[in-house]
This record gives sequence, structure tokens and C-alpha cells, in this order.
Amino acid sequence: MDKLKLKRDSNTTVVSQQTKSDYERLLKRLQGQLKNTSRKEASRLELPSPQIIWVGQRTIFRNFIEFPKALRRDPEKLLLYLNKELASAGYIAGERVIFLGRKEPSSFATLIDRYVKEYVICPVCGSPDTRTEKNKKLGFLLCEACGARSSVKGNYA
Ligand SMILES: [Zn+2]
Repeated sequence: MDKLKLKRDSNTTVVSQQTKSDYERLLKRLQGQLKNTSRKEASRLELPSPQIIWVGQRTIFRNFIEFPKALRRDPEKLLLYLNKELASAGYIAGERVIFLGRKEPSSFATLIDRYVKEYVICPVCGSPDTRTEKNKKLGFLLCEACGARSSVKGNYA
């Protein structure tokens, strides 16, 4: 009897509040879900954000070297890829890459994202724990998580 009464009471409270806090909670939950789905792979890789600045007519990718390090890829290969996509001839200077011309800062995150999907993530299981192998000029991804061996197109792995 007591239990029933309690239950009804708590229901009433929730309904009568009709509230901002409910809305906020829902919003938070939705945002959380969005975050989880779109950043799953990136967070497992723990990639930093590209730091891009313009100096005169040059674009400096200040933390470039962190990316091949985190992805365990040859910096030269990643640079080749960026140069091809940006139609540029950037070069490595210490930890940075210097591109001629003013490149759109937001394009770097997009390109790296694409590189990761094409040359790092295992297409079988989705793990980023892969290494690359060359065999008669063909590139392969070897997955350390599931053991799959997948061919990669292009020359940038
Ligand atoms: Zn795999």
C-alpha cells in the first residue's frame, strides 16, 4: 500500500514538472550519442587537431609530425598525400610542414580524416591498429586486431 502510494507520488512530480531540466537532459543525451558515433574512431586514435596558421603567403601546419606518429605512418607518405590533395609542394621543416599559398585551415582535418579511412583503418574490423606492407609495388594493410590483410589503392600508405 505504502509502496503504491509512493510510486504514484513520484510519477506526479515528474509529469507536473514538464521541464527545462528534462529537455536539457534529453539534449545532453542526444549530443552524447552524436559524439559517440562520429568520434569513435578518432578518439581511439587520439588524434590532435591540426594547428594551421598563415604566415604571409604560406600555410604552416605546426603539429604535422604528431599525425604520422599517432598513425604509425611514414611522414613522407602523409605529406605526399596532402600535397597531392592540396595541389601543393609542402615540405617538412622540423615538426612542421610549410605549404606555399594560403590553404583553407579546415581542409586539413578533412584530408587527414580521409587518409585515416583509406590508409589506416582496417576495412574488415574498423581497427586503426594496422601496419603497411609492400609487395611487388602493391600496398597492403595488415590488421593487428583481426589479422586481415587488405589491399590499399594509391601510393600513400
Ligand atoms: Zn581488422
